[in-house]
Amino acid sequence: MIIQPRIKGFLCITSHPAGCARDVQNQIEHVKSVSGRGDGPKKVLIIGASGGYGLASRISAAFGYGAATVGVFFERPATGKRTASPGWYKTAAFTEAAKAEGLYAANINGDAFSQQIKDATCDIVERDLGQVDLVVYSLAAPARQLADGSVVRSALKPIGEPFEGKTIDFNTRELRDISLEAASPEEVQDTVKVMGGEDWELWIDALKARNLLAPGCITTNYTYLGSEVTWPIYHHGTIGRAKEDLDRAKVALVEPMAEVGGKAFIAVMKGLVTQAASAIPGMSIYLSLLFKAMKAAGSHEGCIEQTTRLFDTQLFGGEDLRLDEAGRIRMDELELAPEIQQYVADNWSAVSESNLDTLTDFDGYRHAFLELHGFDVAGTDYEADVDPEVAIELDAGSV
Ligand code: NAD
Repeated sequence: MIIQPRIKGFLCITSHPAGCARDVQNQIEHVKSVSGRGDGPKKVLIIGASGGYGLASRISAAFGYGAATVGVFFERPATGKRTASPGWYKTAAFTEAAKAEGLYAANINGDAFSQQIKDATCDIVERDLGQVDLVVYSLAAPARQLADGSVVRSALKPIGEPFEGKTIDFNTRELRDISLEAASPEEVQDTVKVMGGEDWELWIDALKARNLLAPGCITTNYTYLGSEVTWPIYHHGTIGRAKEDLDRAKVALVEPMAEVGGKAFIAVMKGLVTQAASAIPGMSIYLSLLFKAMKAAGSHEGCIEQTTRLFDTQLFGGEDLRLDEAGRIRMDELELAPEIQQYVADNWSAVSESNLDTLTDFDGYRHAFLELHGFDVAGTDYEADVDPEVAIELDAGSV
């Protein structure tokens, strides 16, 4: 069938298998062009492996260091005329490329919060790899089912005061006012439960209890701080509270990781268009301004540039770690460069429909959003008839 983007709000409900595959290939080529397969991770578990920073981490580890990877994700295959989710197609493409180079790749599709998926993942690591030397936790989930069967949801809301801001309508390019009520204490608590550090700790506990963490194993999790203009909705909002809990979890993981001679890190990554980020109110204006300034300065990066630089210079590169006062690795130094943030601050209130193309890089934002779903990827024939059904060899325990 011919697959076109169908956008509803901040969601694109279709995705293109060939475009997704080419996007993965482009990421692999980037890694191969900069990474030298030096000393680094060889057996890697990625939780949240099919999109954004998790997929990029998987590609950086596999194609930068020749690592065997186990990926855990929650994606949807195609059914009837409904295309699969982009992460499904991207995982299929990654797996094919990894296997073509003789690299081990196991895939587990299911709810990473569940004990069932943790156990199934541990079984596979034990059976095929023995132990892992890197655990990347890169989950971004809207909800979490707890052990008792109840479901808690994360909210993207301010705390204390309501938020008044603007967003760009993806289809019409109109600027729309958005206002959000302040989160209730329960919503704050629930967001921390979903996006905080507890599940990361549970994964490390589960792996450690079965002696699956190799001596010197590293675990890393990703956070975002961003620009002050986004703080009311991000850093000082419900999601910021969850990210504070990650800092708590990292400290709590120091001792268990030290018992295997390992370490826990949090890396502060750059703001980028991913499935998770596109749901954050107001982010479209910030990222459109940011991309304009960073592209003009020649410092713009995507997920794959970020994770590859993180691996090559910080986690495994032997360079001095660029840590902040809270002990986090800073990969957002180019985003937060004073001249970049000055541009964002100077133009934050001036963005209008008439200057979208001059003040901001909305086209670049739009491209990144489409590319996320396999559209607008150069070299893809969107007129060609494609089969939406693409198989992935899933490992035992997948749902
Ligand atoms: P994403 O939406 O691109 O990917 C999320 C991943 O989580 C996917 O692989 C998805 O399948 C998986 N997932 C979601 N729910 C799951 C579940 N219940 N079980 C198993 N897998 C599940 O997200 P992203 O933007 O790459 O975010 C990853 C991390 O990076 C998050 O902690 C996020 O806060 C952080 N981060 C993102 C940005 C950004 O701008 N996008 C910046 C800095 C840090």
